[in-house]
Amino acid sequence: MDHIVFKKSIFSYIEEPILFGRVDVKWPFLTSNFYISSYICPECGNHMVKTVFPNDLEILTEEGIAKIPRIFVCANCRTIHASRPGYKLSKNNGFYVSLDPRSFEDFIYYLDKKGSLVGRRGTLFNEK
Ligand SMILES: [Zn+2]
Repeated sequence: MDHIVFKKSIFSYIEEPILFGRVDVKWPFLTSNFYISSYICPECGNHMVKTVFPNDLEILTEEGIAKIPRIFVCANCRTIHASRPGYKLSKNNGFYVSLDPRSFEDFIYYLDKKGSLVGRRGTLFNEK
């Protein structure tokens, strides 16, 4: 996935509590390691889904390689968002990329293979 380069995110991210059974998330992919997150997509307002990486995933950004513990995805507008290592997404200093349908689908399945449903408890305490 070397051709995917994340940009510095220009968005403000908003967390919204999840009311189970009331959130209709667009997710047409047969993944096993993505689950709903508490973040709203800054582009279209849908709830984003996330996956957590047992080992930090390396992504290419316009600043170079970043090693990220988790990633957030909106299937409605095909954007992918990552917090800066050591920070929460709501610090608004992370990265994002917008992809065409084919690249988006390929990337989702790539992330699904690397990802996990298991929360990394330790990482939360390191976030600022
Ligand atoms: Zn969206």
